[in-house]
Amino acid sequence: MERVIIVTGLIFMVCLVVGQRPRPASCSAGNTCTMQAPYHNVTITTDANYRYITTTQCPPYDNPQWSNPNSACRTEVTYRIPLSPTRPTMADSIPVGEALQRHDDILYLKNDPRPVLGVLGVLLNGVNIYGVGSPCGFGASCPNDGGPSNYVDAVESEGHTVDQCGGHASPNGAYHVHSNLGFNDTDGRQSCQLPVDVAGEHSQLLGWMFDGYGIYGQLSLNGVVPDDLDECGGHTHLLDGAMVYHYHFPYPSQFPWVVGCFRGCPEVSNNPSEFSGVTQYGCTGNSSTNTGGGGNGAGVSVTASVYTVFLGIVIYLLHF
Ligand SMILES: [Zn+2]
Ligand SMILES: [Zn+2]
Repeated sequence: MERVIIVTGLIFMVCLVVGQRPRPASCSAGNTCTMQAPYHNVTITTDANYRYITTTQCPPYDNPQWSNPNSACRTEVTYRIPLSPTRPTMADSIPVGEALQRHDDILYLKNDPRPVLGVLGVLLNGVNIYGVGSPCGFGASCPNDGGPSNYVDAVESEGHTVDQCGGHASPNGAYHVHSNLGFNDTDGRQSCQLPVDVAGEHSQLLGWMFDGYGIYGQLSLNGVVPDDLDECGGHTHLLDGAMVYHYHFPYPSQFPWVVGCFRGCPEVSNNPSEFSGVTQYGCTGNSSTNTGGGGNGAGVSVTASVYTVFLGIVIYLLHF
């Protein structure tokens, strides 16, 4: 009996440790990203209402850090992006992560509004664009250890794990970037397989955010740094013959790294667990079945946590 308790106790301790950490992902057999087809594949189609981007989520470039510490996995998803964006009716914009204060040399984000985790958009090369927020606890203290909130700037807190294009995999194996730090110049664009800017012209389209607005490089008309961007990082001007709202990556590359907020209503089906709250801003929140997004970056091992609780009960029953 005593041995059972000791062994069970040891397993409990292991599960306690495992259950509180993100579990490094290992992809299912044969699905770890490599550079070869069919691992990287992107197709873009449209119908009357949507643009569909199907991606394996594997980047099209060699990546020395595909397993740092999580593995990038080939998981095909189809994102649905509205061709005619709709605006929220009860707010000017939808927050995706707001700065709170610096603490221990890292930028913390507000708990309320909570940062939107996981995928917010997709680059033309099929790479997921994640938001600015990352949960505390990955080298950044949480509130019970003196941190001022539960979220930190992902680029600052996760920056040491990214590759030459600014990307890395989440605990669930979804490869993503949080910024344009790896592709804000010509060399970076070429090596990350994105369109290169033309001197003196408006930056190229690099991807779409899930509210339907395009996101471009850092320069506006005539190749100058825009001075009229709103809090989301967007503006409206004549582009390819039409007056369109669009985002620019910030210049210089800095917080909020991608967009400061959504100007339109994001398509809920692309990241349902995170976008379902957009109804509070006056978005419809309708979501039909989709193949789903890259998940949220939190990635704490739920299975291990459940196991921990179960074993705790077993020990309790055995011991008392
Ligand atoms: Zn990340
Ligand atoms: Zn512009």
